[in-house]
Amino acid sequence: MADGSTTQLHTQRMLIGGELVEGARTFPVLNPATEEVIGTAPDCDEEQLEEAICVAEEARGGAWAIPEGQQREYLLDCADAIHANAQRIGRLLTEEQGKPIHKAIAEVELAANWFRNTAALEIPEHTIESSPRAHIRVVHRPMGVVAAIVPWNYPIILAVCKVAPALRAGNTVVLKPSPFTPLATLMMGETLADVLPPGTVNIVAGGDDLGARLVNHPMVRKVSFTGSVEAGKSVAIASAAHLSRITLELGGNDAAIVLQDVDPRSAARGIFWGAFENSGQYRCAIKRLYLHHRIYDEVAHELVELARGVRVGNGLDPGTEMGPVSNAPQYERVLNFIADTKDSGGSFACGGATSKSQGYFVEPCLVEGLDNGARLVDEEQFGPVLPLIPFSNEKEAIAKANDSPYGLGGSVWTGDLARAEAIGRQLDCGTVWINQHGNLRPDTPFGGLKSSGLGVEYGLLGLLEFMDLQVISALRSINSVHQKG
Ligand code: NAD
Repeated sequence: MADGSTTQLHTQRMLIGGELVEGARTFPVLNPATEEVIGTAPDCDEEQLEEAICVAEEARGGAWAIPEGQQREYLLDCADAIHANAQRIGRLLTEEQGKPIHKAIAEVELAANWFRNTAALEIPEHTIESSPRAHIRVVHRPMGVVAAIVPWNYPIILAVCKVAPALRAGNTVVLKPSPFTPLATLMMGETLADVLPPGTVNIVAGGDDLGARLVNHPMVRKVSFTGSVEAGKSVAIASAAHLSRITLELGGNDAAIVLQDVDPRSAARGIFWGAFENSGQYRCAIKRLYLHHRIYDEVAHELVELARGVRVGNGLDPGTEMGPVSNAPQYERVLNFIADTKDSGGSFACGGATSKSQGYFVEPCLVEGLDNGARLVDEEQFGPVLPLIPFSNEKEAIAKANDSPYGLGGSVWTGDLARAEAIGRQLDCGTVWINQHGNLRPDTPFGGLKSSGLGVEYGLLGLLEFMDLQVISALRSINSVHQKG
């Protein structure tokens, strides 16, 4: 440890073919609250990656080629195993990612529930014709080996949102967590190793290059990727080589539009955590707030009060409500936005101090005086810095919200639901929330428009993205062919 204390370093192993394996090399993992090394992760080499993909392919035709009912039982066992280990996985998640411990444990519990919900999904068959002459059906079948690639903001739930449906669909998985947050995922792997047949789920750790090699492998039939737009484009290009299927969940710059009829206090409460959950490091956090000019001052005032009351600190402290920014590059990025905001004439209604002590802490920042065209408004900050922008009519707010290459989520806040929906339908985004923001559910599809992604995850539609579609077109008698001719 940096301070010379004797605290034991975490070491986790990869999961390949049911075995927990070391890497030939390791890389350090830091705690963003202390900037100390808390452990090491194995660095997956070429041979280990090859083995992980090959054992996944074998398991697909072997250990995992079992009746659907048995696969569902396994998913329920995964849920129980993760639930039983939620405290220790959650603690490690806080140590490497920074979020408050109760949020980390809740994330792990959500992952356990995601396994349960996914086990319950029914895979449909669709009949096109069922007549004395013909029986034509559309069925769904597994794709093969799925590569699941995940970022650092919600390492556990984002991994399980891929692993659970991939398994439910009959596929096997090679999962790669972010190099910033591999440890809790690898610990979850230990847990899954006790439950699943060998090779069904494999977890490898390493950098961006490992992700690129995984995506480029000809045996990988499907890539489910969550991360930045830039990396998502690389995945799309790589997938063309083998025409592997892809689902991309990429960045967002969600706008919230607040109409003049809201109660400022209750709206502010929902908006605040819609923006600052996980220190703003949430793909569908509110990243731009458009406030009707008649309620601007009151809502801004309430938001400032909330921001001043928030306890920012080490996630292991039970009183902490907001942890640090999760890693050094992201911290630099957020500090850059703060500096740019000052340079471009924005003012801080609260927050904005950048003096550095230990840990990547940033107080919640509420920024005034910027508009579309400023970096903080146009780009994805992915941190606790929220611009507040007044508007005077709905048309203007909709145009500004849509003035973005992103299209992940958006929200409208008003007591008039019909009006909210009318506005929502004009927003160019995959999900429109009304009087809430960022609420994701295992039964509801989620995906981005424009540069925010390709395809959807979650629910039945998300599950079907892990399956190939096949048509079974039968004539009931061979004679029918001749009759037709
Ligand atoms: P990132 O794209 O840098 O990395 C994400 C993952 O992809 C990591 O595991 C990384 O190692 C891997 N990777 C990087 N380059 C790759 C390549 N060329 N081929 C294959 N794998 C590669 O993103 P990040 O910095 O970890 O996460 C932050 C970004 O993720 C933000 O833009 C955020 O909006 C986005 N995000 C999106 C969603 C969503 O569902 N839409 C969810 C969470 C985060």
